[in-house]
Amino acid sequence: MSELIARLHHAFRWDCDECGRENFERAISLEKGYLEGKITVDNDEDSDYVLYPAIVVCEHCTAQFLSSFNGELEIEEDE
Ligand SMILES: [Zn+2]
Repeated sequence: MSELIARLHHAFRWDCDECGRENFERAISLEKGYLEGKITVDNDEDSDYVLYPAIVVCEHCTAQFLSSFNGELEIEEDE
């Protein structure tokens, strides 16, 4: 086994509705210190905040979709 360390990152998995294949989007991590002063941070945990991209593109067939997580759209469809 290699002695190099694989650094894991948060990611979102989604399935393409055009070609049916699996895709992964790397999560956008914001450090808690960056957000403090910009928004009210009421989470005392020392964890980073994770965002997902508003639009995703299938790496297999290049179809483009608005993204949602837990059924919530990041942006409104009529914008
Ligand atoms: Zn696809």
